[in-house]
Amino acid sequence: MLALELDIHYATRVLLDLLATPSPTGFTDKALNKVEAYLLELGVASYRTPKGALVWTLPGKKTEARAVISHIDTLGAMVKEIKEKGRLRLSRVGGYDWASIEGASCVLHTFEGKEITATVLNTKQSTHIFGPELAKLERTDQTIELRLDAEVKTCYEVSALGVEVGNFVSFDSQPTLTETGFIKGRHLDNKASVAISLLVTKAMVEANMQPSHDTHFFVSNYEEVGHGAAAGIPEGATELLCLDMAAVGEGQTSDECCVTLCVKDSSGPYDYQMNQELRTLAKRNGISLKSDIYPYYGSDASAAWRAGGSYRAALIGPGVDASHAYERTHQKAINATARLLMAYLSSD
Ligand SMILES: [Zn+2]
Repeated sequence: MLALELDIHYATRVLLDLLATPSPTGFTDKALNKVEAYLLELGVASYRTPKGALVWTLPGKKTEARAVISHIDTLGAMVKEIKEKGRLRLSRVGGYDWASIEGASCVLHTFEGKEITATVLNTKQSTHIFGPELAKLERTDQTIELRLDAEVKTCYEVSALGVEVGNFVSFDSQPTLTETGFIKGRHLDNKASVAISLLVTKAMVEANMQPSHDTHFFVSNYEEVGHGAAAGIPEGATELLCLDMAAVGEGQTSDECCVTLCVKDSSGPYDYQMNQELRTLAKRNGISLKSDIYPYYGSDASAAWRAGGSYRAALIGPGVDASHAYERTHQKAINATARLLMAYLSSD
């Protein structure tokens, strides 16, 4: 069995860096460039698929290939309309509740590459003016708007800044590592898993270790809209291990300090035999592995299956509290997920 030390400080540094790099679905280039740069540091070559996903391969002893999938794209928004008084209506990118972005600091990215900071507010955002009306306000695309940090009072002044319908808006992650080992921030889903993929790649490369199978790491860029890994998984792969966050909440077994096996989500059950093998690997390596079911959840493995892929597929990931809002996980969960992934890579 593997006894490699995993460098949690490296994973944390990479994760905080990725969190600080905006990558809403459809606008993921900068974050993927960072992942490429981290791979270059390790001397690992990678390529982009035509759809823009990033792939790198660790050659194994057996050529029957596996793919380890994570996604770099996150929730975000696009400018839908420039309102008369200079505020902006948003169109959501990915699935989230409007209330979860209220008060979020953001950046608007113009087509010319200019970045304008902004804040998400509602249309009655002042207790002193709206009193009880504010509490009753339903949060929708009509009542949530963007306020640019620019002296603008009209739609013409906003247009003059270069702002147009279709500009991306990224929500600041506000990443933080606490003294108690928690990592807080928006978009831990699923940058935590990208950091885990890099951490395990680093450990294998530096220890000069080969996985038991050819292993393709696949970082998808359209997961949050449901079709990330629907295309581009390297030919010959027969098994997918999807890494994505485990949602923590009432009635769930998922835990911020643990790795979870998702046995079923909105897309149905994952591969039973593969789940059993992962449970065995966890037991043998002294990793506490939770099993959980998510009622409103899909993964890149679901996308690959729906696209007609014939794979065995399973889903593991670190516990993340307050998913699709201001999220939190613990370094222990990152470490546990990475250890299970390491054990999987060296298993038959
Ligand atoms: Zn995710």
